[in-house]
Amino acid sequence: MEFGSFGGQFVPGKILDAVKKVEQAYEEAMKDPSFLEEYRQYLKEYVGRPSLLYEAKRLTEHLGGARIFLKREDLNHTGAHKINNVLGQALLAKRMGIKKLIAETGAGQHGVATATVAALMGMACEIHMGAVDVEKQSLNVYRMKMLGAKVVVVEEGLKTLKEAVDSALITWANELDTTFYLIGSAVGPHPYPIMVREFQKVIGEEIKAQLQATEQRLPDYVLACVGGGSNAIGAFYDFIQNPSVKLIGVEAAGDGVDTKRHAATMTLGKTGIIHGMQTKVLLEDDGSISEVYSISAGLDYPGVGPEHSYLESIHRVQYVAATDQEAVDAFMLLTKTEGIIPAIESSHAVAYAIKLAPTLPKENILVINLSGRGDKDVKQIARFLGETLID
Ligand SMILES: *Cc1c(COP(=O)(O)O)cnc(C)c1O
Repeated sequence: MEFGSFGGQFVPGKILDAVKKVEQAYEEAMKDPSFLEEYRQYLKEYVGRPSLLYEAKRLTEHLGGARIFLKREDLNHTGAHKINNVLGQALLAKRMGIKKLIAETGAGQHGVATATVAALMGMACEIHMGAVDVEKQSLNVYRMKMLGAKVVVVEEGLKTLKEAVDSALITWANELDTTFYLIGSAVGPHPYPIMVREFQKVIGEEIKAQLQATEQRLPDYVLACVGGGSNAIGAFYDFIQNPSVKLIGVEAAGDGVDTKRHAATMTLGKTGIIHGMQTKVLLEDDGSISEVYSISAGLDYPGVGPEHSYLESIHRVQYVAATDQEAVDAFMLLTKTEGIIPAIESSHAVAYAIKLAPTLPKENILVINLSGRGDKDVKQIARFLGETLID
């Protein structure tokens, strides 16, 4: 497998053929300078890269320890890191002569990102979404429709993400020659975890170059939240070869890892198979996949990208978990000290930094990957804090 005993292509025959086709096209594309040039051009002119690396002096002062820097992925077009990946995959689809993108979405963030690049490239777009999620996320559903996407409402089973994945895969299997399946995180069968990492590693490369330019040194710590693991692997990858840089992934502990309501896959998962890959998975005693929970829709995933399982197994990356309460406290603290409203996902990484930074020397540099902005989360934070907004 690609990552020690993690990764692989655990999909049925028909889909395996399509995955192999993506693998071949991807490998050719990455060797083609004109493909990479077009990708870089879009990152610069459409996404707005490089994203800023900002020293959070007031937060640093408040915590009293290591200097904290924020990698501002929240400033990207569409407000998060996801655009880096969907853009790369859409360009690959275009190169393969495919004119339709298909994706599943839970809370709708990946669906909106995919619908965005479909509009940009003039492609058709079909987003599969569980009926329960459609109900909860009406704004994102409407956003996708405005962008020209068809939203397929999935009524099977629990009517959430898992059923949406199955539904999208069935549709893909029936349209293999005309449709590209666009995965939203560093998960799924090979080559997707590697492909998504390659489209996200620009984050870590920029952090390294930006710190080199202003501080002439490497960071001591890089922190990122982990759902499927795409923003984290993107932030970490360029530092893996630098052993002095400590890398920490922060997953969602929900109500606590000692309760049933969490999404702490690295902390409590076992090796298993999910979405076509072997990786760590949250499993019940009978071997079925656990239902997961987090305040953050982007982090409530029962699996994790296989490269993270591998990096943990070789002790290169440390994985910890932050609760809903800790994430909300971090959300409020960053908002109040820096005037930056972070995504609730990213707030999990901020939450661990709040614990870690005061224990470190003042000369240390700690970079938090701020994976997205928090405008989308304001209503939910208000509810968590016991206030109801009327609109
Ligand atoms: C989707 C999302 C995440 C989680 O996905 P990863 O693949 O783990 O990065 C984190 N932060 C934001 C802002 C997101 O939208």
